[in-house]
Amino acid sequence: MPTIAYSIRNSLYLNITNRCSNSCTFCIKINSRTFHDNDLFLSTEPSFDEIMAAIDAFKDFEEVVFCGYGESLIRLEMVKQVAEAVKRNYFTSVRINTDGQANLVHGRNIIPELVGIVDCLSVSLNAADAETYMRLCNSPFGEAGFTAVCDFIRLAVAEIPEVIASVVRVPSLDVDACKTLALSLGASFRVRSYYEG
Ligand code: SF4
Repeated sequence: MPTIAYSIRNSLYLNITNRCSNSCTFCIKINSRTFHDNDLFLSTEPSFDEIMAAIDAFKDFEEVVFCGYGESLIRLEMVKQVAEAVKRNYFTSVRINTDGQANLVHGRNIIPELVGIVDCLSVSLNAADAETYMRLCNSPFGEAGFTAVCDFIRLAVAEIPEVIASVVRVPSLDVDACKTLALSLGASFRVRSYYEG
């Protein structure tokens, strides 16, 4: 039975799609259909009622995080609906872990639509230049994908309370250059572990 919601420490993670706007070489789902013993391969994308029922099954979480085995913002309207309901019913913080391609996917700046219902955006920056980004993330948008991530972070910083730019520590990545870029965009910076499967 695929998992829609799963908890790690004090956070409740939502797996609402397996679709993605990138195809990263380091993606965990290439090597494993499970994460923390949860099967994150969805047979169908969950409805609003199914997502809320999955959240209701948990107690004592301090934040809800849109994450899982896909890019949640591909389902923008569902994210907005669920985030708003989480805020209304649970009074908890809401984070979205994202690849930062949503403005290209939807053809508009979607960040104002998240204001008031999202507390934190954790954006996968993943590189300090377009060439490295393409090599690691295989963006279907080509080098525009890297520009879009940087623009997304810059726009988010102006409207969302907390914005984190993250990288996965893959071999040969210039982490210091990534940090410099993240800080110049106004975000904080986080390095995530490389999961080799
Ligand atoms: S954006 Fe995330 S889920 Fe999508 S391919 Fe990259 S690592 Fe995997």
